[in-house]
Amino acid sequence: MKTIYLDNNATTRVADEVFEEIKPFFSELYGNPSSMHTFGGQIGKHIKKARKQVATLLNCDPSEILFTSCGTESDNNAILGTLSAMPTRRKIITSRVEHQAVLATCRSLPSQGYHVVEIDVDKNGRLDMEQLEREIDDDTALVSIMYANNETGTIFPIEEIAKLTKSRGVLFHTDAVQAVGKIPIDLEKLPVDMLSISGHKLHAPKGIGVLYIRKGTHVKPIILGGHQESGRRAGTENITGVVAIGKACELAQEWMQHENTVVKQLRDRLEKGLLSSCKDAIVNGDVENRLPNTTNISFEFIEGEAILLMLDQFEICASSGSACTSGSLEPSHVLRAMGIPFTAAHGSIRFSLSKYNNEAEVDFVIEKMPAIIDRLRELSPFVK
Ligand code: PLP
Repeated sequence: MKTIYLDNNATTRVADEVFEEIKPFFSELYGNPSSMHTFGGQIGKHIKKARKQVATLLNCDPSEILFTSCGTESDNNAILGTLSAMPTRRKIITSRVEHQAVLATCRSLPSQGYHVVEIDVDKNGRLDMEQLEREIDDDTALVSIMYANNETGTIFPIEEIAKLTKSRGVLFHTDAVQAVGKIPIDLEKLPVDMLSISGHKLHAPKGIGVLYIRKGTHVKPIILGGHQESGRRAGTENITGVVAIGKACELAQEWMQHENTVVKQLRDRLEKGLLSSCKDAIVNGDVENRLPNTTNISFEFIEGEAILLMLDQFEICASSGSACTSGSLEPSHVLRAMGIPFTAAHGSIRFSLSKYNNEAEVDFVIEKMPAIIDRLRELSPFVK
């Protein structure tokens, strides 16, 4: 049996086109771009090309692209780098449903004298914009709100937030790790100051990320050492990662249409099939404003982890909560922030698709799921 991989918000397979592109950089083009010799020096032009490929996808200037090691580093750099560049302001605003890369970073700050505010969301995961507006003040250094939620796929009103922060003279960072490659983003039109990307969420390998920093935005480096990345991030360039994320961004542009038609239809087919064949199943999140590949469904009165184990017997990969919180039986902080009842939050499963999925796979999941749910409900202490 072939694995049915429906966990693409956790990580994606490397695209064949990306794999082909990076192969020479392991064996033939392995020089260090900082070297004086031609062998190393020639690598620079490949970095330049990748920077342009990323910038083209986002419609920004290549000089605004900083290569990092992952989405987590990009988030850390945006938050910590902004705060250290702006020592007079002591407040930072984020949301309760951010990825840990943002939440844990922000939650480390009060011990250093910062005031951190986490904006609420409603039962559909929508941000409380009035609270955000009220909280922005003269002491605010940064607002960091994600573009799209990794667990529910809910897309936030980034343009509205960006216009608000701009009008108040406050910097705005968005963690767009789940959005880039899935929905179009045009940074010429969208006035965000910083935006994070992760390579392994868009068919590049793990270990490469990007932080977009709008020209004129002052962000201090968080990794010190050599002068790589124009002094913005030290460390010998991850050339295979850089080339990979460049190619992945080029492909994302080509595949965007497919993602928003074929992948979306597959997701809808899966969701509809599961809702009609499984009792007491509810979709979590804002179904009107959602990533095309994601559905988060609560199967009430049972444990998500138990569902995952039974799906695993059929080699079906999905996730309960976010990949990073799985392994703990605490209900996801995102669903808790949305006020989803305990009996539903525990039974939530995230299915996240990609262009590598097909109808037969989706239909196989729809076929297997009702028996899994019925069996677990028979065993559930919550069902009388
Ligand atoms: N931000 C979001 C929204 C994510 O979903 C993830 C990973 O799941 C990250 C940040 C962290 O990215 P990385 O795994 O590249 O560090």
